[in-house]
Amino acid sequence: MAGMIDSLLAGNDRFVAGEFAANEDYYHSIAAKQTPKVLWIGCSDSRVSEHQMTGSKPGTMFVHRNIANIVAFNDVNISAILEYGVVHLGIEDIIVCGHTRCGGIAAIENGVKENYIADWLCIATGAKEATDRIAKERKLTREQKLAVLTEENVKLQIKHLNNLALIRNMHAKGALPRIHGWLYRVEDGSIDVLVDGRPGGSGQPRSPKGRASKAGKSKTARRRG
Ligand SMILES: [Zn+2]
Repeated sequence: MAGMIDSLLAGNDRFVAGEFAANEDYYHSIAAKQTPKVLWIGCSDSRVSEHQMTGSKPGTMFVHRNIANIVAFNDVNISAILEYGVVHLGIEDIIVCGHTRCGGIAAIENGVKENYIADWLCIATGAKEATDRIAKERKLTREQKLAVLTEENVKLQIKHLNNLALIRNMHAKGALPRIHGWLYRVEDGSIDVLVDGRPGGSGQPRSPKGRASKAGKSKTARRRG
């Protein structure tokens, strides 16, 4: 739709004259060299904008996004991004971020027949199996089950990440890169820490049981870890 495209280009004019002009020194410094501190693995969902949700300027994060924030073993794309990020850019923190109301997660739960999407989502099968067990034990509603699946998927993809030879070999030599698991809530814009990879953090989900209900959420606990 041409109207939309025109509006994007008009938005760029405003960006150049506003944000870019006002922070010219910063943008010139990152034009000379990018030095992102974080590698972001998130969902392609249009509502989940990593720089915006964290109040970050361009240049902060090296980014990989795909349907349902999946870390695939045989995906040369993500492997190349990881290698460039941790080996060449020296990134020390990797964030795997899932989000509420994820279409990919709903498709894993419902089952999907489309060829490529089904093949892709197969990589999250382990999360679906774990969630089915939890849902049975705790008699979860569908909504609660989707919430658990979203979190189990983040945990599974972190497991995949930790199992990649590149990361495994780095971890064998030391603690880097640190791996973090987050959940972004599209309803209110907030981030929950699911797996705290900060130094002194548990490296584990903080409250796996509280997640099925919104009542388990506490901003203070989230920040303090
Ligand atoms: Zn999604």
